[in-house]
Amino acid sequence: MAKQPMLRFVKIGREMPEKRPPALRAEDFDEIYSEYSDEKATEQAGRCSQCGVPYCQSHCPLHNNIPDWLLMTASGRLQEAYELSQATNTFPEICGRICPQDRLCEGNCVIEQSGHGTVTIGSVEKYITDTAWEKGWVKPIAPAQERPESVAIIGAGPGGLAAADVLRRAGVQVTVYDRYDRAGGLLTYGIPGFKLEKPVVMRRIEQLEAGGVEFVLNCTVGEDITFDAIRGKHDAVLIATGVYKARDLVAPNSGAPGVVKALEFLTASNRKSFGDEVPEFDNGDLDARGKRVVVIGGGDTAMDCVRTAVRQGATSVRCLYRRDRDNMPGSRRETQNAEEEGVEFVWLTAPSGFVTDADGTLTGVRVQKMRLGQPDATGRRAPELIEGADYTEEADLAIMALGFEPEDLPMLWGVPELAVTRWGTIKAKFNTHETDLPGVWAVGDIVRGASLVVWAIRDGREAADAILSYLAAPARVAAE
Ligand SMILES: Cc1cc2nc3c(=O)[nH]c(=O)nc-3n(C[C@H](O)[C@H](O)[C@H](O)COP(=O)(O)OP(=O)(O)OC[C@H]3O[C@@H](n4cnc5c(N)ncnc54)[C@H](O)[C@@H]3O)c2cc1C
Ligand code: SF4
Repeated sequence: MAKQPMLRFVKIGREMPEKRPPALRAEDFDEIYSEYSDEKATEQAGRCSQCGVPYCQSHCPLHNNIPDWLLMTASGRLQEAYELSQATNTFPEICGRICPQDRLCEGNCVIEQSGHGTVTIGSVEKYITDTAWEKGWVKPIAPAQERPESVAIIGAGPGGLAAADVLRRAGVQVTVYDRYDRAGGLLTYGIPGFKLEKPVVMRRIEQLEAGGVEFVLNCTVGEDITFDAIRGKHDAVLIATGVYKARDLVAPNSGAPGVVKALEFLTASNRKSFGDEVPEFDNGDLDARGKRVVVIGGGDTAMDCVRTAVRQGATSVRCLYRRDRDNMPGSRRETQNAEEEGVEFVWLTAPSGFVTDADGTLTGVRVQKMRLGQPDATGRRAPELIEGADYTEEADLAIMALGFEPEDLPMLWGVPELAVTRWGTIKAKFNTHETDLPGVWAVGDIVRGASLVVWAIRDGREAADAILSYLAAPARVAAE
């Protein structure tokens, strides 16, 4: 090992783990990046400048102690690096794979600012915890003492699972309810395997189960069990149901066969990767094979759709987005990966309707051309319509990836007292995530609106701490 393991950015350039060539990537749903070798991880971790004010850490939603675990990795102290990394992050190997690091930790790395290329923080984080799994350092939860209190978690996505982990470690009895047949939320059925292979998610769920977390699957709260029944059975409830109502496009023929919703398309594809029977895929409706595919949207979901369509064997894949490359919300890295895989981006375009043949079958998307005007409230330049420049983009399958909104939980669950914002997301206190209903907390996308895995994890951990304080509060304990 080098005497001075750090500050090696002066001599050593930034190197991501190897990426499989696009032609090979298109043949399967496996992750596209390979793992670092031990030498490469040591070398790349050693590029960190150990700066006095680590902006990477303050821009990581979990405030991960990045400089320290980079130092330990570069010094060969990998088990300590793992212990430190997992102390602040419930699923470091998942965040290492799918956080948009360019907008978070890596985008704020000091050596990136000085033009040397950021430390590959996400890839090192993934390497540390993948190694920990391989070496058997990741153990099921074994609480020092069992506690009698029980907490219900509605929603087995990253927010709910992060909370389950913290609560169970404290010895609390945890039951996670989810409407799907597998836990994991969007980690399981939304995000495709080429970004996050499914065994990586499933082994986490198996570990939680082995540690005593109870999962009640195929159970839709509001249908199979009432919210009130859950409240009656448990000492506290955490809502972590995510946002699933797809934003619609009101346009001619938008209900035509061949116009589909992004999450239905991705869920069908992910289910096929598990080997499930999926009639809507098997009958061709949600299969892009041999089709000209047009995806509408410019976020992470749209990027996942275009790349899934490539892997399914689409004859062409185009992505329509109403702004330009610089103003798109999706990760730059994923856009580049999509382009390498043959996806064509048609910038500054918006759909105005769908074209069908005499049988009503989709043949194209009517497209309006746009230009960029002044910045809007989000700071991004607002698209403006160019009159008279419409044209038809040929398509056999149009996938709508226009974003998600929350379901109306107070109505669906018959709890009008559950306060929501004007966007329909649940109102919860900033740090404790407590809602207006006593003994009920809420985290993740159902509070933030469509967001990121790392934010859901942070919320889940914070809410679990708040629930533990609530369970231990003297007034509550005395009343029992
Ligand atoms: C296609 C796609 C790609 C994405 N890619 C990325 C990415 O690369 N990086 C990133 O950081 N983020 C990404 N995101 C965002 C990220 O997945 C979410 O922000 C995150 O999963 C939110 O976590 P959550 O726990 O709040 O909700 P979810 O993960 O949505 O989990 C909610 C769970 O609640 C369950 N549920 C809902 N209603 C009920 C009910 N009534 N009864 C019982 N169970 C219920 C659902 O079945 C689900 O399992 C992506 C999102 C999508 C859609
Ligand atoms: S959790 Fe995400 S933001 Fe934080 S260090 Fe890891 S990759 Fe970066």
